[in-house]
Amino acid sequence: MHYKIWRSNKDKSLHLLCGGGPAAFNVLPAAIRHLGPWTGGAEGDVNRLRLTYRVQLAEQGFVVIYDHVSKLQLENVAGVHPANTECPTCQGKAGVPIHAGLRDKECPRCGGRGWIKSPGR
Ligand SMILES: [Zn+2]
Repeated sequence: MHYKIWRSNKDKSLHLLCGGGPAAFNVLPAAIRHLGPWTGGAEGDVNRLRLTYRVQLAEQGFVVIYDHVSKLQLENVAGVHPANTECPTCQGKAGVPIHAGLRDKECPRCGGRGWIKSPGR
């Protein structure tokens, strides 16, 4: 399951975390949607979210976060699991697009695992 971050155009510190895809956004309470218009931002794997956000997302279907974008820390920091640092070449997807994105091949940097051991740790 994926999550997606939205940022309010009215207030740049207002962020909304909900499930990926338009369906998840459409089922939000009207009061939340009206805090927008929202601009779609980063997406990621729900399993990477910090526990507090993951719990709220599961219970409510969304999380409203008010903080400056530079202070947002939605995912567990890499230092907690140093062996699972996301591969910078494929961004954890384990594959890299070839032939202009028509298909993927196994990422050469991480060997198709999607993560690498960070150097020096
Ligand atoms: Zn990779």
